[in-house]
Amino acid sequence: MEAAPLPLVPQLGPEMAAVCAALHRRGGADLVTGIGVAALRGTVAVTGVELSDGRFLPADTVIVGIGATPNTAWLAGSTLALHDGVLCDDGCATALPQVVAVGDVARVGGTRAEHWTSATEQPRVAVANLLAGRTRETAGSLPYFWSDQYGARIQFAGRRQDGDGVRIAEGELTDGTPGEGGFLALYERDGRTTAVLSVNRPRPFMRARRELARGGSRPQPAAL
Ligand SMILES: Cc1cc2nc3c(=O)[nH]c(=O)nc-3n(C[C@H](O)[C@H](O)[C@H](O)COP(=O)(O)OP(=O)(O)OC[C@H]3O[C@@H](n4cnc5c(N)ncnc54)[C@H](O)[C@@H]3O)c2cc1C
Repeated sequence: MEAAPLPLVPQLGPEMAAVCAALHRRGGADLVTGIGVAALRGTVAVTGVELSDGRFLPADTVIVGIGATPNTAWLAGSTLALHDGVLCDDGCATALPQVVAVGDVARVGGTRAEHWTSATEQPRVAVANLLAGRTRETAGSLPYFWSDQYGARIQFAGRRQDGDGVRIAEGELTDGTPGEGGFLALYERDGRTTAVLSVNRPRPFMRARRELARGGSRPQPAAL
């Protein structure tokens, strides 16, 4: 169950979120969306979930995945700028010259990414800038995440924004679900590729990811 209209809309946009949501249905899971949880019921153990519209879903196990909020309360009152994380420039430097921030808590150059890639790549840049006493290097790595769902490997890289167009560049959809051989979708804005999504197309995805990281994002002809 999901409070938003579909899972993954902020990450993938509504069209591709719908395609990935179809994986749940194909996998035999009943996806309940657009509704919140009012309470968990049960005394010794959970017996079910009460939804905010009064519906009751019986359950003997409940797995909760409701995201995270950066824990910056302990920094309130310091001179660091805070807004959904610690605000940093492109090199992880904060308003204080001797303080850098990296990983989930850092809003680097306007973006806060909750992915291992950022958490492992940003520290090298942050330390270099800390030692230099100014921003000499930028943490420009391309946001990347993956997820395995019902045997499908979902991979996404890039910086998608609301309003970007999205088209299937390889493979196809079958009744709104990923076809047998998966697919590769490109997000585009002003004729440039901004992000790439693949389902079960790891090699073309890695090529497209490298191309995006190099900054060469020429639009490619559609394969369909
Ligand atoms: C269930 C789950 C699955 C995930 N799967 C993926 C995945 O498949 N791919 C992917 O790329 N990313 C995934 N992530 C995200 C990834 O784990 C995070 O992006 C990454 O761990 C961030 O690293 P970090 O060091 O910034 O923060 P964290 O790993 O959260 O480490 C921060 C540490 O700081 C400590 N801390 C907090 N406040 C204080 C304080 N005041 N004083 C001292 N210590 C403090 C915390 O206890 C914690 O140990 C997943 C996250 C979760 C929760």
